[in-house]
Amino acid sequence: MRIGIPAEVREGETRVAATPETVKRLASASHQVLVQAGAGAHAFFTDDAFRAAGAEIVDASAAFGADIVLKVRAPSDAELPYMKPGTVLIGMLDPFDTEQADRLAAARLTAFALESAPRTTRAQSLDVLSSQANIAGYRAVLMAAALYQRFMPMLMTAAGTVKAARVVVLGAGVAGLQAIATAKRLGAVIEASDVRPAVKEQIESLGAKFIDVPYETAEEEEAAQGVGGYARPMPPAWLKRQAAAVHERLKQADIVISTALIPGRAAPTLIDEETVKAMKPGSVIVDLAAGRGIEQPHGRGGNCPLTEADKTVVRHGVQIVGHTNLPATVAADASSLYARNLLDFLKLIVDKDGRLTIDLDDDIVAATLLARDGERARKA
Ligand code: NAD
Repeated sequence: MRIGIPAEVREGETRVAATPETVKRLASASHQVLVQAGAGAHAFFTDDAFRAAGAEIVDASAAFGADIVLKVRAPSDAELPYMKPGTVLIGMLDPFDTEQADRLAAARLTAFALESAPRTTRAQSLDVLSSQANIAGYRAVLMAAALYQRFMPMLMTAAGTVKAARVVVLGAGVAGLQAIATAKRLGAVIEASDVRPAVKEQIESLGAKFIDVPYETAEEEEAAQGVGGYARPMPPAWLKRQAAAVHERLKQADIVISTALIPGRAAPTLIDEETVKAMKPGSVIVDLAAGRGIEQPHGRGGNCPLTEADKTVVRHGVQIVGHTNLPATVAADASSLYARNLLDFLKLIVDKDGRLTIDLDDDIVAATLLARDGERARKA
């Protein structure tokens, strides 16, 4: 099959959907790989490296003209016309954005949004949310450390002792757990909160303290179990008690990494303005839910309503980072992991003889299918 890798054009997007390593594997499976000139430049994969791996270097229309197009983000309006009806498009296509899904359906593409893959053992190797959230969690801590005007580790020096930074991580999914591990390596003292009881052990095993907000009703306990490993919105009474506990912990905190998300819904508000006011001057919040909060249409909010998407602002003496694409700041490794996710997904829809076989009895294929034959895929 002809597999196309266009350059990403969205502002700030540095990743690319293939690397010389994955191109080599596709070429050795007799696919013709068409990489747009300069597609890997921001991630430091050169055209020469792609060519040496077996790709042809082409222009945008040839890359989009392939049978299968591998993308990081959804194509822009300007790019859509490059693709002929029936093209298979695979990428992080924002499955909850129904307007976008309609756009891809109207272009009669067969589109797969990899964010919708089930969180099962079989889907682990193509789980783009995990591969990219892991990077976001790591980078969030490094970004906070760079802004924070004090040390992270405890230091005993001839000039006196420096206290370790206190880090609070809100939401201990893939990004949160990596944030805890990274902050631990830098010597911080860490506390973390999540709604799901299963994460207490994971938080503690990484050397952090769990901020316990006990359940008081069966309804709270049931909501906290989530669905398919994901959180569900918690009852307001529990959220109120959590907010009070978080408020107290954040008064002592130097760095807060917030990662709380609920798929398909606005991110919960966990750090209100009163809490920001109570925080220490110079402390840092990195809000990984930036742009996904309840005020999302205006680019404001996240887990903190004062967050502004893609900006670092200072509010009440607290530095609030609202970067919406942290994986793109680790472009080379983010691309490498993402490209391997794509390779594993391709194995599900291209058979040994190199033919396209879309089997909707496969739970991963069915869950990720976003549009086909002019229609948005219906989910059970
Ligand atoms: P996510 O990005 O959707 O959410 C981040 C975290 O925020 C979650 O842990 C969630 O529980 C938490 N959260 C939501 N509301 C909150 C609130 N009010 N307060 C505090 N925390 C809140 O989640 P994710 O990182 O994509 O992972 C979700 C789950 O899926 C995790 O348990 C993860 O380990 C699991 N997972 C399983 C597999 C697999 O089995 N293949 C792969 C990846 C992830």
